[in-house]
Amino acid sequence: MSDQPTPMMAQYLAIRDANPGALLFYRMGDFYEMFFDDAVAAAAALDIALTKRGTHQGEPIPMCGVPVHAAESYLLTLIRKGFRVAIAEQMEDPAEAKKRGSKSVVARDVVRLVTPGTLTEESLLEARRHNFLAAFAQVRDETALAWVDISTGAFQVMECPLPRLAPELARLAPRELLAAEGAGLDELADDAGAALTDLPAGAFDSAGGARRLCALYAVETLDGFGNFSRAELAAMGAIVDYLDMTQKGKLPLLRPPMRERAGGAVQIDASTRRNLELTQSLSGGREGSLLSAIDRTVTAPGARLLERRISAPSRDLPLIHARHDAVAQLVEDPRLTADLREALGRVPDMDRALSRLALDRGGPRDLAAIRAGLTQGAAIADRLPEGSAQVLAQAAGDLTGHDALIDLLDEALVAEPPLLARDGGFVATGYDEDLDQTRTLRDEGRGVIAGMQADYAARAGVTSLKIKHNNVLGYFIETTSTHAERMLAMSDVFIHRQTTANQIRFTTVELSELETRILNARDRALDIERVVFARLRAAVLDQAAAIGQAARALAEIDLAAGFADIATGEGWTRPRVDDSRAFDVQGGRHPVVERALKRKSESFVANDCDLTAGQTPAIWLLTGPNMAGKSTFLRQNALIAVLAQAGGFVPARHAHIGMVSQLFSRVGAADDLARGRSTFMVEMVETAAILNQADDRALVILDEIGRGTATWDGLSIAWAVMEHLHAVNRCRALFATHYHEMTALTAKLDGVENATVAVREWEGEVIFLHEVRKGAADRSYGVQVARLAGLPASVVDRAREVLDALESGEREGAARPAALIDDLPLFRAVPPAPAAPVAKESPLDARLRDIHPDSLSPREALDLIYDLKSLT
Ligand code: ADP
Repeated sequence: MSDQPTPMMAQYLAIRDANPGALLFYRMGDFYEMFFDDAVAAAAALDIALTKRGTHQGEPIPMCGVPVHAAESYLLTLIRKGFRVAIAEQMEDPAEAKKRGSKSVVARDVVRLVTPGTLTEESLLEARRHNFLAAFAQVRDETALAWVDISTGAFQVMECPLPRLAPELARLAPRELLAAEGAGLDELADDAGAALTDLPAGAFDSAGGARRLCALYAVETLDGFGNFSRAELAAMGAIVDYLDMTQKGKLPLLRPPMRERAGGAVQIDASTRRNLELTQSLSGGREGSLLSAIDRTVTAPGARLLERRISAPSRDLPLIHARHDAVAQLVEDPRLTADLREALGRVPDMDRALSRLALDRGGPRDLAAIRAGLTQGAAIADRLPEGSAQVLAQAAGDLTGHDALIDLLDEALVAEPPLLARDGGFVATGYDEDLDQTRTLRDEGRGVIAGMQADYAARAGVTSLKIKHNNVLGYFIETTSTHAERMLAMSDVFIHRQTTANQIRFTTVELSELETRILNARDRALDIERVVFARLRAAVLDQAAAIGQAARALAEIDLAAGFADIATGEGWTRPRVDDSRAFDVQGGRHPVVERALKRKSESFVANDCDLTAGQTPAIWLLTGPNMAGKSTFLRQNALIAVLAQAGGFVPARHAHIGMVSQLFSRVGAADDLARGRSTFMVEMVETAAILNQADDRALVILDEIGRGTATWDGLSIAWAVMEHLHAVNRCRALFATHYHEMTALTAKLDGVENATVAVREWEGEVIFLHEVRKGAADRSYGVQVARLAGLPASVVDRAREVLDALESGEREGAARPAALIDDLPLFRAVPPAPAAPVAKESPLDARLRDIHPDSLSPREALDLIYDLKSLT
């Protein structure tokens, strides 16, 4: 046995070594095969059988494989599990290889590297979510973040100082992050849920980046797109370079890069996002998030736009007003809104169709999607009245002027084309004369065959004679073996091809000639369709920018109509957003909690909140028992600010919001075990971030800060934090606490006001009114709440006893609870049993006590029973 690998294995190893860090899908006929460690890893990840094939250096080679037709779902699993996959295809017909000699191997090469950030297939993507690939670059002391969604072509870049990286990653939630080797971003990427891909430092070269971008957009200079810093060029260049590498030279359609202005959006850090459950609930899914509660969009691009707006509410006043104007117009015209939404429901995802076409992974259905999108777009533009709000008027403009392309696609494509171009059948009759003629020839051939069959049946005198077709023989004549003799006798006409168990098969000169003609016609028709496809694809790509614009316009209309729909349905109002430091919400509601209550047929109690700085105290200190609704109130006000600046209406009777620049939300005692930090440490790190960053335009909500430590520590910290917010940050803030002692602060700080969530006590039970009122809570009702939660009655009673003692001790000025606890009888978890009266032992009891059943014989036992009986 030789140690030399077989020629095929040699080819495999060469391809694998050229693509390190990726599983290699090695195409062999109808399968993608994996070998060696790849096979072991993939078999485990995919839960498929691991087998062996041949040997390498004396060892059997582990192997597993997936069928090509089902490869996408396996790919999805592998990508989700963090693998990257290199796909090596056969680059020639195996027959070609054979011609070169019996030892020759079919040429193969990697046509694509599939990574989490570079997916385009519909089945691998979530329709309503973006799939971003991001790159972080550092050039001397400049840093930048660039990101792209290759499934839609959106390409953006911004300056990004290192401390901003985590919040920006939290906003974008990229699937993959590119960074220079040794940049140390592992933890950041991990927190953002992105796969980190290290690239050599050379990939982040700014001059090279500029050159690559110029080549990509076929321009001499990038000045037309903006004035980019070196770091920005490096980040964008790295993305283009990486796409070039993973797509093996087929670059996706990238829109010209847009520079995102720092300060254009409300700053929201990762934990605030998580805590407010903007786009994901705490449990991880979309369900339960603000996004899912308010998403009334009917198109996938509309849903993605909503996600972007909610993730990054704007700080651009004119833009916010323009967006509100659009929603207002649609709220006032429900008929128009319903019409638009109905038409939008028929709009396909043009962005993603366009991107697949650009990467040459598209098919006739993608062309049809462009046709349908543009056609519906024109109809939608028609419906928008003259003098529409600016956002809608501009969208209408972007949706017109595509008639030539629509006509071309209409004329060229059948109504419902098949998925793949290679099978043909998508070009409409009447579009290409040559194609029509060829198709007639092909179809007539089939008619001629029917005639031929009748003719041969008559000539042979075999009525059951059939002309059939299979892939091995092509067309053939078939009779049952019973007619064999008769047929074989007519060998001047019927040429024998094959005998099977029951059948005998023939051909004729005439039939083979016809077959050749039919086959030729079919191939020719396919060839013509291929050419037509290429022409249509080129026509679409030629208009790519305008189509992208139209797709954005449709998403914008969808978003405004969705906001209008929820505003009308749920009674939301237009917020007034301005440059002041107002925060006046009347009748505010929490959209997610309200929705959950509605499902249980319960109603939500609306509440007011006025933090207008300068006029009223800008900080509210909220006390009240657990479960009263403190957290809900805090969050609803933050969410109202988010919705208002995202361009939507808000769940309130009235809302006046002075532009919020930063939003912070902290909850005490949220565990972060994954990072190995204690609960309390996390809380303090996060609180420090607020105190260091919040400016006078920030909105801060703090829920139970200081809970993670001993009472007096916690109270002191909460107290000091509040003073700092008031004196230094001077921001608008809501502060919920169960430390009643803090309510005394309002006497000292004129910018702080007490508020409480009202409860009523009735026959020892607490009833939650969910009403926020001015003033401090009188007590915490923790004991009553504990009872509602089902704590054993004995524990509740005992708790009440301890509480009474503590409270009376406090009134009498006892120094510390510890002292009081000394006075309380300890550990009376179980109520004492009523003391039994001490009685004299009865003769019966005495007799019973003396019995030892084990030592009794049956006879003695019986005697004993008579004896006992006599004692009663
Ligand atoms: P807390 O923070 O005071 O412990 P939560 O805000 O978590 O209380 O609210 C507890 C529950 O009370 C919520 O899950 C919700 O069902 C209900 N709730 C809160 N606010 C309201 C409200 N304004 N109207 C009606 N129900 C409410």
